[in-house]
Amino acid sequence: MKVKKPPLRTCLGCSREADKRELMRFVRTSDGDVHVDPSGRLNGRGGYVCKNSQCFEAAVRKKRFAAALHANLREEDIERLRREFEQTLTD
Ligand SMILES: [Zn+2]
Repeated sequence: MKVKKPPLRTCLGCSREADKRELMRFVRTSDGDVHVDPSGRLNGRGGYVCKNSQCFEAAVRKKRFAAALHANLREEDIERLRREFEQTLTD
């Protein structure tokens, strides 16, 4: 019997490895916009963050989103992502 390992992803905030279902995915879609992707299924370059604001803020501070998603994030993009992310946390 083979043990099936869950796919691990690294949090952009704290660098913890976790089952990707425990993390929130962010994705840069083909139009260059970055979105929160709670389904984990959107096409595009993705990055993962623990489901808490500390890790989101850490990822922003360390500019990990820009690096992981190859996206240019302006302050207003960060603001929008923060709102989208916090909405998913309260669901
Ligand atoms: Zn984290």
